[in-house]
Amino acid sequence: GERERDLRRPFIHKFQTENHSYVYDVNTDRIIQVTPVVYDIIDDFGVISIQEMFEKHGSQYTVEEISEGFQTIQAANSDEGLFSNNHPSEILYPLDEQSLRNLYDEDVRSLCLGVTEQCNLRCTYCSFSGTYEFQRAHNSTFMEFDVAQRAIDFLKQHSILCDYVSISFYGGEPLLNATLIKECVEYANGIFGRKPIKYNMTTNATLINDEICRMWIDNDFHLLVSLDGPKEMHDRYRVNGADRGSFDKIALNLKRLHDMSPDYYRTNIRFSVVLSPPYDFENLSVKNVMELSYFFQEFQVDIWHDFGYTNASDLVSLRHLSGQNYPITVKVELPFLSNAQLTTYSVLSENDALICSRPSTHKLIETVHNQLRKSAMQGRTSPQIRTIPHGVKPEQIDSDKKQDARYLLSLPEEITIILCSVDFNLNSGTDIFPLIRAFQTIAKNKEDILLIVSGSDEYGFLDGARKFLESSVLGRQVLFLPNVGESARLLLLAASDIFISPSDTVYTDNGLQVLEAMARGIPVIATDDDESGYIDHGRTGFKVKKGCLPLSYQALRNCFAFTPHRVQALIVSQGIVINVQQIIEFLVLLIEDVSLRQTIGAAAMQYVCEHHNPTKIVEKYKHLWSNLRQESSLIQLQTSVTENQTSDDGWLPLLLSSISQTVHENTPLYITPEGQALLETQDVVIYEEMEEVIFPPIILTILDLARSVTCLSEIIQSLIQLSNPEETKNLVPNIAYHIMWCIKQGLMIPHKSSPIVEN
Ligand code: SF4
Repeated sequence: GERERDLRRPFIHKFQTENHSYVYDVNTDRIIQVTPVVYDIIDDFGVISIQEMFEKHGSQYTVEEISEGFQTIQAANSDEGLFSNNHPSEILYPLDEQSLRNLYDEDVRSLCLGVTEQCNLRCTYCSFSGTYEFQRAHNSTFMEFDVAQRAIDFLKQHSILCDYVSISFYGGEPLLNATLIKECVEYANGIFGRKPIKYNMTTNATLINDEICRMWIDNDFHLLVSLDGPKEMHDRYRVNGADRGSFDKIALNLKRLHDMSPDYYRTNIRFSVVLSPPYDFENLSVKNVMELSYFFQEFQVDIWHDFGYTNASDLVSLRHLSGQNYPITVKVELPFLSNAQLTTYSVLSENDALICSRPSTHKLIETVHNQLRKSAMQGRTSPQIRTIPHGVKPEQIDSDKKQDARYLLSLPEEITIILCSVDFNLNSGTDIFPLIRAFQTIAKNKEDILLIVSGSDEYGFLDGARKFLESSVLGRQVLFLPNVGESARLLLLAASDIFISPSDTVYTDNGLQVLEAMARGIPVIATDDDESGYIDHGRTGFKVKKGCLPLSYQALRNCFAFTPHRVQALIVSQGIVINVQQIIEFLVLLIEDVSLRQTIGAAAMQYVCEHHNPTKIVEKYKHLWSNLRQESSLIQLQTSVTENQTSDDGWLPLLLSSISQTVHENTPLYITPEGQALLETQDVVIYEEMEEVIFPPIILTILDLARSVTCLSEIIQSLIQLSNPEETKNLVPNIAYHIMWCIKQGLMIPHKSSPIVEN
């Protein structure tokens, strides 16, 4: 009947926004934007025949449209496992009562205190505004200290197994109950002794005073500040009871906090930005990205630095290796488009060159960049965008080395070791499961194999897995070694026979781990969906297709008997993962055939030597650097002035000629209102690449001169006259730089016909 019919439908939920239609696919945990026809017919997929669909939806769509929609659904279903009708048949609780008891007795890590249900603001969209069914409204409930004290005592008693605890303050606006918060901090610091406490607070930042700032700084509070963007965006919704915007107050308060401790400000604050109409993904992609980006730059916030992978250590070492100081290199990896756009814009606006390690990132950056340029960035010079792959040094691992490594790690000699590296977090933590599942199948019939799982485990994710595996037959054949240091990591590589990267992309950890294994002649199994070219299937390694791990709660319970909230997290993050069947197939091949391992390992090493040779990579950097130098008269100037510093009177003509490449010496220069304002505040502090750079007073002198003198050569002459002869020598190389800086920052503008404006 009806229930049976429901079970045949795809396990999905649908929703629409003003412009688009979406399907949430429960089994893969993905949200997919679909066409209207797909949206309308998808519920019938697998329930009625296509002929019946023609009849049912014929009044709305043509036969062709329906067929096309149907094919799209079918393809997504067979290729990616989307829109399947796997419905859970039952939900079982994964832990028995005793384990639950133990868990809550000893392993409670965090406490969140809702210190008040009142707020001083009345943001229109607030979930506590009283307009949402099932949500409480603002009210005058305030937590008393004895309640908080008992909660903190509880945390103390039940966190014996935790190496740190976290205490968060939430509201309403928690600072309405600031006295209580201070008491809590004092009390907790007293009773927890040396166990670290991580404090967090979500706040609207309107009620800050010096004392509160001090408490935050002294106790290393991490803050989540609600700020929706520039005044116009923010004040539209975030208002007080009298409908007055809260932006000005927050801006002032943040400045106060910043002044007190710029370091704290830079590291401990995150902003929670709510995008509400009229801003949405569509218009955010161009104009508002820029607004937001500028805005957050003004607030000295890096809005981009923690998206994706930021480990640039190989770039640093490459630069070091080459003996050159490259001016600006930025590596970006862009996992999500919306973030990508913010990221890209912010990066593009600040740097002369962008370097990415993957071709698809390159394409993405270019697309977004062109889009931005078209819309609003005219006048800006384009940074160079290059794909420069990673450089990895090959290292022969002969059998002696392998023996030594195994000896040092107390691993037996006569077994096949499979090394897997996964970073454990809620996104990629689940990558391990297809591998474990595959390994369970293989290990049933093979005693002499060992799977070593390493990688970083910030969240204590592995504890549960370890407990489970140790208690099962498999326990003896799986070794969990999370968070090993660099030397141990290299030892592990040396000790291994096969490397597997079970993530859904070869670029986990920027693909470096895969490359490193290949560089040591270890055959690799990985997903390669991103044209990296690392793996030539069957020759330099094995490529595994993405697949879908069908979700069954029973299977999760059996395989991954983690603590309840972790299972929940797994279910939430379970997405498309790599294909279990193929992992089994390739692992068995490599385990059984030692000479195949050797052949593939050798070819892999050969590939790395040819394509990821550090010396060649350094050449690419050098090339880029020299291009940059040619293009930038500014950099040219600095270099040539340095080279010529010995000659006593060579500098003035040189300076003039270099700078004139960009602005002619007789080009009129005008101070802008921004320049004027800067001159009045005398506050020349900017942030460059997260370093605080205080510009010397010369900037102010230049701006001051620009008020009365009218062209470049006059400014230079006057500056030289102003300084004493000793100073002049040191000053000169910087004059041009600072003049250019003023122009670039919009503090001075040259006359329209000068090259910089035409550019
Ligand atoms: S600051 Fe937060 S709690 Fe207060 S009204 Fe605004 S959204 Fe609601």
